[in-house]
Amino acid sequence: MSGSKCTRLSGALVKQVLESVDSVLFDCDGVIWRGDQAIPGAAEVINLLKKNGKKVFFVTNNSSKTRKMYADKMTTLGFNVTEDEVFGTAYCSAMYLKNVCKLEGKVYLIGSNAMKQELEAVGIQQTGVGPDHISGKQIDWANVPLDPEVKAVVVGFDEHFSYMKLNRALQYLTQQDCLFVGTNRDTRLPLEGGKAVPGTGCLLQAVETAAQRQAQTVGKPNHFMFDCVASQFGVDRERCLMVGDRLDTDIMLGSNCGLKTLLTLTGVSTVADAEAHQKSGCAEKQGMVPDYYVESIADLLPALQG
Ligand code: PLP
Ligand code: CA
Repeated sequence: MSGSKCTRLSGALVKQVLESVDSVLFDCDGVIWRGDQAIPGAAEVINLLKKNGKKVFFVTNNSSKTRKMYADKMTTLGFNVTEDEVFGTAYCSAMYLKNVCKLEGKVYLIGSNAMKQELEAVGIQQTGVGPDHISGKQIDWANVPLDPEVKAVVVGFDEHFSYMKLNRALQYLTQQDCLFVGTNRDTRLPLEGGKAVPGTGCLLQAVETAAQRQAQTVGKPNHFMFDCVASQFGVDRERCLMVGDRLDTDIMLGSNCGLKTLLTLTGVSTVADAEAHQKSGCAEKQGMVPDYYVESIADLLPALQG
């Protein structure tokens, strides 16, 4: 196999690479779908990989859905997927708090209902989900009521993020034994037509700035998402391919875990971005250079059909 990085994956090389792996990890947004639309050919690729005996998993930094919600979305879009193959940051954060932190106590949650559900599924209670915005009266901000059972602050995607939530997080994090966990650091979520909205990384940075503490993040590029998959399915990292559209999260995760990496150009990053990292000479940035790239994961189809 080619020793050089950032090689276009086409022709006979596709089959060769697919034969060299038993498991494939797919990022979701920008790889198998964009928003609510499946990438053309993605469902066929996933279904054929599975038919050919490959283990397929989905690793997404998006904390706004439970595993079940993702499996339902994928089924609607034609993917042959089960809930246990999906590893989102809502689920992985719950696993992290339970199995790594061994949290005993409640979570102060800046996050979605989906995160609440995943936490509760592993027996962790939360407070904080939903709107928390008081105005129109004098507020004693530094003395807002706190739940004494809270032993961790967790920050994920929260459309109800507010000054009160930021303040409450700061008050909890002032207690040194309070854990601080974030789902992911994606700062912007790109949309069609060059538009973008703020990602969870913006909320997390606001809380970090207020609390003057750094959170431990669970999502890509942290190896924890891969650890979750590997501990449940026994993945051989030398025979595993990570497919993603972002160099700083997906490709970095693959590099951090010793996986083969494939960049697909249907999302955020470009080949020019990858080449710039490669040419930079910076050792840290070499982890953001993929082994291979394709225009779309549909480019894998001919090798799977043949
Ligand atoms: N976080 C949020 C809230 C999102 O909406 C998205 C994409 O839609 C992401 C993160 C990135 O998800 P992924 O890791 O699947 O690209
Ligand atoms: Ca993505």
